[in-house]
Amino acid sequence: MSLKAYTAFRKLTDRISRAIIYGNVSHAYIIEGDSCIDKAQFAKDFIKAILCEEEPGFGCDRCVICRKIDHDNYEDLYTVKADDLSLKDAAISALQEKLKNKPTGGMRNIAVIEDADTMTVRAQNRLLKTLEEPNRGTVLILLSENTENLLQTITSRCIIYRLGNYESGKETLHLSGAEMMMQMLIDGAYFCDMKEQLGKIVKDRKDAFLLLDGMERLYRKYLTGEGTQAVRRERLISNIKYIEEARRDLLANVNYKYAVRNLILKLGG
Ligand SMILES: [Zn+2]
Repeated sequence: MSLKAYTAFRKLTDRISRAIIYGNVSHAYIIEGDSCIDKAQFAKDFIKAILCEEEPGFGCDRCVICRKIDHDNYEDLYTVKADDLSLKDAAISALQEKLKNKPTGGMRNIAVIEDADTMTVRAQNRLLKTLEEPNRGTVLILLSENTENLLQTITSRCIIYRLGNYESGKETLHLSGAEMMMQMLIDGAYFCDMKEQLGKIVKDRKDAFLLLDGMERLYRKYLTGEGTQAVRRERLISNIKYIEEARRDLLANVNYKYAVRNLILKLGG
């Protein structure tokens, strides 16, 4: 998907998009995030943003380049990952051989190193050579859960993007759903569109509770002055009350679809 779709990481993706548009693509990045965050998918979408010529900085999802990246058949993109528990020297060595090839499609070779924090010290020292003397246009993207496991000589040569301001992946998903609903409300979206979106976000009662929690947290955040000022204070307070009512409905075993739709109607009214 386009980088625009990562509403939970909006600040970060805005930064990334701007850098790409201004031509500031670095030769090495670390994308850090918990195991529950799909860093490999994010890396793909990041690469599309770098290479897509239709929507530079974002990725269009439609052009040949974006589609090839999505389908894992872009010629100049190489991926390595750990076998067993660590990413070994031989894998990095094989990658370096591939990176010696001139890119066939465009200007860049791109390498994604999954499980980078499991690299053996030997593998890290080998990779360091590529980081110190990168080929023109080559971009290395290291995916890592725990960047502390990487040598300082590696981390100091990479731009580090941290994914996840929120505690868990499940929560991130729903907070981003909550953010999406909030944005639609602020934009005055049609109810039928919001209903469709709700159908995707809320598939059971548990999802409904998570959505309510995410939305309430956002409203409370707006209330304390962080973030948007688009919605006024009294409105915020009454909206939080509506969320509390919806939560009571859910606890009273009201149908969860009905409860969230009813809530959205009240919030939008
Ligand atoms: Zn594209």
